[in-house]
Amino acid sequence: MSRRLSEPATDPARAVAELAAELDDLENHQGHDVDAILARATDAAKAADMLGDDVLLHRARLLQADMHQREGNVGEAARTFLTTHAWAEQHDCRPLRARSHFHLALTFHYLGDHAASLEHALSSVELLEDGAAPGLRIIYLVRLANSLAESGSTDAARDRYRQAEELAVAAGDRTRQLLVLNNLAYTELEDGNAETALAVVERMHAARQVLGRDFLIVERDTIANIQISTGEFAAAEETLRDVHDAPRWFEAHDVADASLTLAVAQRRLGALDRAQASLDRCRAVCADQKLAGVRVRAMAEQAELFAAAGDFERAFAEYKRFHAGAEELRSTQQEARARARQAMFETAEARRDAERYREQARRDPLTGLYNRRFVDERLPHTLAAAGSAGTAVTVALVDLDHFKRINDTLSHDVGDRVLVAVADVLTAGLAGGPAAADGFVARMGGEEFLVVLPGVGPGEVHARLDDLRVAVRAHPWRPVTGDLPVTVSIGAVAVHPAAGAPGGDLQAALLAEADRHLYAAKRGGRDRVVC
Ligand code: GH3
Ligand code: MG
Ligand code: MG
Repeated sequence: MSRRLSEPATDPARAVAELAAELDDLENHQGHDVDAILARATDAAKAADMLGDDVLLHRARLLQADMHQREGNVGEAARTFLTTHAWAEQHDCRPLRARSHFHLALTFHYLGDHAASLEHALSSVELLEDGAAPGLRIIYLVRLANSLAESGSTDAARDRYRQAEELAVAAGDRTRQLLVLNNLAYTELEDGNAETALAVVERMHAARQVLGRDFLIVERDTIANIQISTGEFAAAEETLRDVHDAPRWFEAHDVADASLTLAVAQRRLGALDRAQASLDRCRAVCADQKLAGVRVRAMAEQAELFAAAGDFERAFAEYKRFHAGAEELRSTQQEARARARQAMFETAEARRDAERYREQARRDPLTGLYNRRFVDERLPHTLAAAGSAGTAVTVALVDLDHFKRINDTLSHDVGDRVLVAVADVLTAGLAGGPAAADGFVARMGGEEFLVVLPGVGPGEVHARLDDLRVAVRAHPWRPVTGDLPVTVSIGAVAVHPAAGAPGGDLQAALLAEADRHLYAAKRGGRDRVVC
């Protein structure tokens, strides 16, 4: 019995597992049915949203965007890929990083940026988890191999195709083996090795027989192109014989490509009528599906066909149309690429802005020091890290003495300048010490600062903090405050946090203890350190 999707799952863990399995299946998909996959991915995104599972939600969004990209909407897809990519990096989520790199490799391939495509493809394979489905690894390796081939590294590409094929054979996955071989054959053809490509085709036949299905149209198109390049025009025609009866679920693009290949084979055979019929069918599919690229290539083939029939006047007119069409296509593609690049740029810029605002929200505008919000985020981590490393941490509250007097006698403005100068003295004092790397100074509010010194234990805490106290007192204050001295009182605690103790609880306890010591320092006469 199957459960309807709208029915709420009683067990959330099971609902998550089911959704993850659905996404595994979609990522592993074989079909060419863009609409069906898009519908399932959209359902999956809704379900992930309801479950509140961010990772599954991003996986579903990647699939949706992948389908949009296949439909030609590269810019919109690129936005999603980049957004998910940033999220994955920020949350150090390796599976999502691998997936977003994989999709970006394809995006940059569409944009004609082979170097960027290769970089993303390399990262995707590198980051794929060991436990990932073999089918996924095979697809990623094929994308990497294609990117390598496009950037001229054919040998490195062959290595990856071989790895991918070995994986497919080991997994008994003949469908993927054929996918690998088809891409390898195409790469060999493009590289000018028709004989090697033919040998690959032989292996495609063997794999297909084991699989017990006919070749897909894309596979037949590869084979026919190889046959044309070796002069076997009749064989190429035979390979694509019934391409027009292809079932509807094949991508229109595949059918149009294959019809054009068939027309070329038939023209080269001298069967001009059959070639014209194939070309007419190709053009009908192109018009139907708005396939601009194939449509322009079909014009060139039409010109060839007129020329082969001796009708040079029409051939010339068709060539002119072809050139105009190619020019138009180039500018449309350039526009589409520009739009996609713009979308990527805006996404990256929005992320940089967000990071800048995030950083700004953690700074005190007057002194430029970190603020209390930063302390609350960072200090628990510092304490937990010291706990697991078995090292000490010192937490010190630094409060200006009789600061009210400076404000009242001089001015609030002078008070501000004193606060900035004290912040600088404390920062400089920290930078000179051993805790410079992980330690920090923050302004907790008013004229109270926090100094955190990892690695400074009970034995050395007094000396270290007294250096800070003396540095404040010794600062050349006269130009700022005249006769009024500027001093600070410091209350501190140095601890060895217990391993595994919650840093948040410890933080509250330490700050309260430091505050008590600060109060004692004030009561004891100010300008002193109490630990
Ligand atoms: P004590 O030695 O006991 O710490 O005395 P105090 O005068 O430093 O302490 P008190 O808490 O009485 O006064 C702190 C003063 O700091 C009051 C407040 O107006 C001033 N203050 C707080 N924030 C700022 C600021 O951003 N700029 C300036 N100029 N003054 C500030
Ligand atoms: Mg004070
Ligand atoms: Mg105070």
